[in-house]
Amino acid sequence: AKPLAGVKGTFSERTFIAVKPDGVHRGLVGKVIQRFEERGYKLVGLKQVVPSRDMTEEHYADLKKKPFFKGLVDYMSQGPVVAMVWEGKDVIRQGRAMIGATNPLESAPGTIRGQYCISVGRNIIHGSDSFESAEKEIGLWFGKAGELVDWTQSGAEWVQSDN
Ligand code: GDP
Ligand code: MG
Repeated sequence: AKPLAGVKGTFSERTFIAVKPDGVHRGLVGKVIQRFEERGYKLVGLKQVVPSRDMTEEHYADLKKKPFFKGLVDYMSQGPVVAMVWEGKDVIRQGRAMIGATNPLESAPGTIRGQYCISVGRNIIHGSDSFESAEKEIGLWFGKAGELVDWTQSGAEWVQSDN
C-alpha cells in the first residue's frame, strides 16, 4: 500500500498540520490555510475535531515524560482542533519552516508562530517533524478509509515543475 505520507521528496509528499484550540478560538484557521494554499500546497484532508485525551496522548506519545505533558494534553483535548493534511514537494520540512520554532519567542518574524503567538504553551499550530511522524500522525487523525481526498488541481503545472 502507498504510504499515507506519500513519497518523500516528490510532489506527493504529505504532512499533518493542525490548528490547535488557541488558534481556532483566536480565529486563525483561515490565515493558516491561506499560507499553505498560497505557497502552492494542496489540501487533501480537513476536519474539525475535539480529540479525546487518549488520542492526544497518542499524538504526543514521545513527550510523555515531560513535565508539561499533562498541561499539553489538557490544552489540546479541550478542542476544537482543525486537522489537515497538506501535499506537495518538501511539504514536511517546509511546513515546519513556515510554522517556526517551538517557542514562539524564538520563531522568526513572518513565520506563523512568529507572527501570531508568544507562549510555548499556546503556540497555535502543530506540524509533523519528519516523514515517520507524518506517517504516524496522518494515520492517527485521518486513518479511516475515505478521509483523504486524492484530486488533481487544475493549473497544477503552474506550481509543479522540475524543469
Ligand atoms: P513542536 O513540534 O514544535 O510543536 O514541539 P514539540 O514536539 O517539542 O512539543 C509539542 C508541543 O508541546 C509544543 O508545540 C508546545 O505546545 C508544547 N511544549 C513544548 N515544549 C514546552 C514547554 O517547555 N512548556 C510547555 N508548557 N509546553 C511545551
Ligand atoms: Mg513536535
